[in-house]
Amino acid sequence: MALRFDGRVAIVTGAGGGLGRTYAIELAKRGCKVVVNDLGGDRHGTSASTSMADKVVAEIKSAGGVAVPNYDSVEFGDKIVKTAIDNFGRIDIVINNAGILRDVSFLNMKELDWDLIFKVHMKGAYSVTKAAWPYMREQKYGRIVCTSSNAAVFGSFGQTNYSAAKHALIGFSNSLALEGEKYNIKANTLIPTAGSRLTQTVMPQELVDALKPEYVTPLVVYMVHETFDENGKLFEAGAGWYGTQQYYRSAGKVITNATAEQVRDGWKQVTDMTGARHMNKIAEATQELMAILANHGEET
Ligand code: NAD
Repeated sequence: MALRFDGRVAIVTGAGGGLGRTYAIELAKRGCKVVVNDLGGDRHGTSASTSMADKVVAEIKSAGGVAVPNYDSVEFGDKIVKTAIDNFGRIDIVINNAGILRDVSFLNMKELDWDLIFKVHMKGAYSVTKAAWPYMREQKYGRIVCTSSNAAVFGSFGQTNYSAAKHALIGFSNSLALEGEKYNIKANTLIPTAGSRLTQTVMPQELVDALKPEYVTPLVVYMVHETFDENGKLFEAGAGWYGTQQYYRSAGKVITNATAEQVRDGWKQVTDMTGARHMNKIAEATQELMAILANHGEET
């Protein structure tokens, strides 16, 4: 059965170009009413224009879809959600996608480079989601996607600001997932890889052309569908590959009243990932420590 979105309303932030544009177009094709949000500025988060959002709305409408533009910066999530409510009367899906880069080595990073990145990526996702949340709770339905990056997971030279904000989004989304659980609000995080205005700065043009944003779109469309049952997870797409990333905890070593030297000497076991386990919930991780605490004195 095709994944349809008839009767659903989505906000896609930063949908005037790159990945967001493809999400908006594909959702509209599948019957979703879409708020195409884009500030229309440059990739460094300066300037603004209405043309980027307008162009995507025109594209959707000419294909028979339903969409309205919104030109507010994502920091003003209440205005973006108001656009959805005023035009379509509800909000079911929020795709936090808008993004900028302010790449510079940590030594040379200015306060503005740090603040702007957090303002757009983290404060933006917070602000839009915060404004949509009461509607989603009330209707007991919502699908939220936050956009992270492999720069968050692995670190990235010249991107301390960006990788920190992108990792913050994973924590944000994971906690939203817990708070939204009983209201059928699912929040998950995406790590995309695609050629775009952002990646043009770090990839050769052939790669930018080959890594089509459209390769990421199917995963995002599925992630915001009502049949998508995952919550608080991290998914990845790029180049036609789809997967997930998870945290694993090593079996580790218990050393009661350890000295630094004993930790050093047990390092092989501390870091051995043989038999490492995926932890689903913070309670699982804590319970394990509580059990060890209860067994103090019985070293393994
Ligand atoms: P892009 O530059 O093509 O798209 C980002 C869009 O966000 C732009 O259209 C821009 O105008 C808009 N935008 C910027 N600031 C905004 C603001 N304050 N309010 C509203 N809109 C704003 O880049 P993209 O590659 O399509 O990136 C989309 C998202 O995916 C970003 O969050 C980016 O960090 C993330 N990401 C992309 C890649 C990749 O390989 N392309 C990898 C990891 C993460």
